[in-house]
Amino acid sequence: MRLSGHNVIYKHAVRRVTRPRTGHVASLCGFHSTSNINSKSLADFRTIYERRDVNPNAKEIAILGGGITGLAAAWNLSTRTDAKITIYEKSDRLGGWVDSEVLDVNGGRILFEWGPRTLRPALGYGPGMATVDMLAELNIADEILPISKSSPAATNRYIYYPDHLVVMPGPVKSFWDIFRRLGALWTEPIFQGILSHVRSEPFVKIRDPKIQDESVGDFLTRRFGSDVTDNLASAFFHGIYAGDIYQLSARTLLPLFWYLETRHTDKELGILWQLLIETSSFFKKATFVPGRSIGAKDLRADIMSSPLNDAAMQIAILLQRSSVYTFKGGLGEITSSIEKALAENPNVTIQKSSPVNGVTFDKSTKQITVNGNNTDLKYDYVVSSLGPNTMLNFLGATKQHDSRKGSPPADVQQACHHSSSSASVMVVNLYYSNPSLIPASVRGFGYLIPRSVPFDSNPERALGVIFSSETSTPQGSSKESEKAQQRLIRRMESPGGNDAVAKKRATREMFIHERETGEGQDTAPGTKLTVMMGGHWWKGWQPEDLPSEDEAIEMAKALLKRHLGIDEAPEVAKARLNRDCIPQYPVGYREDMATIHRSLISEYQGRFKVAGPWWQGAVGFNDCIRKAREVAWAIQHGKDEMTGLEEYDRDEVWFLQNRDTGKLRLDRWYDE
Ligand SMILES: Cc1cc2nc3c(=O)[nH]c(=O)nc-3n(C[C@H](O)[C@H](O)[C@H](O)COP(=O)(O)OP(=O)(O)OC[C@H]3O[C@@H](n4cnc5c(N)ncnc54)[C@H](O)[C@@H]3O)c2cc1C
Repeated sequence: MRLSGHNVIYKHAVRRVTRPRTGHVASLCGFHSTSNINSKSLADFRTIYERRDVNPNAKEIAILGGGITGLAAAWNLSTRTDAKITIYEKSDRLGGWVDSEVLDVNGGRILFEWGPRTLRPALGYGPGMATVDMLAELNIADEILPISKSSPAATNRYIYYPDHLVVMPGPVKSFWDIFRRLGALWTEPIFQGILSHVRSEPFVKIRDPKIQDESVGDFLTRRFGSDVTDNLASAFFHGIYAGDIYQLSARTLLPLFWYLETRHTDKELGILWQLLIETSSFFKKATFVPGRSIGAKDLRADIMSSPLNDAAMQIAILLQRSSVYTFKGGLGEITSSIEKALAENPNVTIQKSSPVNGVTFDKSTKQITVNGNNTDLKYDYVVSSLGPNTMLNFLGATKQHDSRKGSPPADVQQACHHSSSSASVMVVNLYYSNPSLIPASVRGFGYLIPRSVPFDSNPERALGVIFSSETSTPQGSSKESEKAQQRLIRRMESPGGNDAVAKKRATREMFIHERETGEGQDTAPGTKLTVMMGGHWWKGWQPEDLPSEDEAIEMAKALLKRHLGIDEAPEVAKARLNRDCIPQYPVGYREDMATIHRSLISEYQGRFKVAGPWWQGAVGFNDCIRKAREVAWAIQHGKDEMTGLEEYDRDEVWFLQNRDTGKLRLDRWYDE
């Protein structure tokens, strides 16, 4: 199959060759010389990020929503342009779902997270580099709390399957661990049928290529059987999306699997074989990289120009050794640091308690009027992190000379309605003064509960339980840190120990050592647990049918007693209902986004851009930061053909990156 549509246009566009970088950090960040790449095709993707002169039209910019997406967009615009920026935030605080609460308890203080709590490093072509870059710019690297790859939180993840926690396959630390995990595959009922389904997967008939999307549940059941889907996959989708796998879009959330299924229409190899052949260390040692990440390569060049500064490099190296990370003051440290920096910038106005009621565009002046707090102000560009329901009010028939609006076309209305569903999650945080509450045999990140668990084992409709204390202290392997410290001392004492390079290296090692062994989020000893409930299970429930926060605490305690035998009374127990907090990507999401993209181009001529989980088909904090950076970049360089949704209006293309050499090539499927 060949490339078509917009991609063909890129083939004729001007190419800009990015500065090749070599060495450890370059490879760490997935950035390599382009000389041996299937250069033509690769360059085609990169040209969309070709730099232009700074956009003279971007003088006044409005940001709608002061969560991490809006804050990251404001940060990037304020540090890279001279534009005047106004942030509109409906509530009286910034941060959105990010909310870290510090509480005094007997013996010290503890931290509860009410929204996101940990970030994946996601270096390489992942979205994490934009975060690394921003952390370095904000100068908050010292506050990072890394969770080492060898910690229980990194190696042990569980699924509850009546009536106990089952450890999932993952990194092994000892022979005993290998036996334990392999043994579980044979003995645990949750894995029943998995081996035969894996064996037969290559022989499953591929989908009709005309099918544009299907649910995650249907897709996985077709290929791997209903046991794997309902017992295992549903648990992971509960953990990330609080969602129903039979409603979520496979094409959006399993893009690589979706692609691999029809990658070889002639030789039907199956998804697992293709993954094994292309990616395993034994065969080709490659990684699949989505074309849109390659497309962002020149943007990444922009990002990478600062990772060559020491601060970002240090962070990247630290994170490469970590499974996930957070901050001593919780993730709220990121949002509060951005807020503080923006508040000091005279070009930035922060309007809290200012809900945006309307947005209109005047095509003759190319100005966007934003109505917030019943006041109209005019802007050259808008970046919105608000969802499709709000967007519907902003997409009407914009008039040539005035700003009155009509109704959006039917297909746009349909796309906005269709993609606007969300899940509500009840978060219950509990603190116990007993530091050994969790049995040593199940120490780990926590556990998820699949849809197949019967009602009487999960009447609370819990999605999962996080052992929060496991990610509240550095958990750096003391052996690793010990060795690092000794290396450091040797280096400092060696004859060349005083030269600049050795000093730099020593400083970096000291930085890593301090983060891996330093203080954590809590000063009081004890155990913190977080129970998440609801999500898709509560879909369609009226507000009065949902449990109150007091009821939720009792439900959480009952669940912990049933699942983990915890009978102790918590010293602190608090609950919060996060209403409509996680977008649910329905089957056909890509089409919806493509429709909205085209509407934004025709209505706002590219001056209205979107970022955030509603629009990027991913809920991760890193994804929000990267998307915010991309749209800020698009404004900075006057790329009015980009709305933040343009990728949905193009073919999806995959590249393979050799893990040894870092070289990229367009997946051969396209060259056939
Ligand atoms: C419980 C929970 C746990 C999570 N855990 C993780 C995790 O561990 N790791 C991870 O990577 N991600 C996690 N996520 C996802 C991540 O936190 C979110 O995707 C991210 O915070 C979304 O940020 P945002 O700025 O796009 O949206 P929001 O945080 O929703 O911010 C949008 C802002 O817009 C404001 N607003 C709304 N309407 C208007 C209006 N009309 N006018 C002006 N302002 C308005 C809102 O008040 C809000 O402040 C989690 C999410 C939740 C809810």
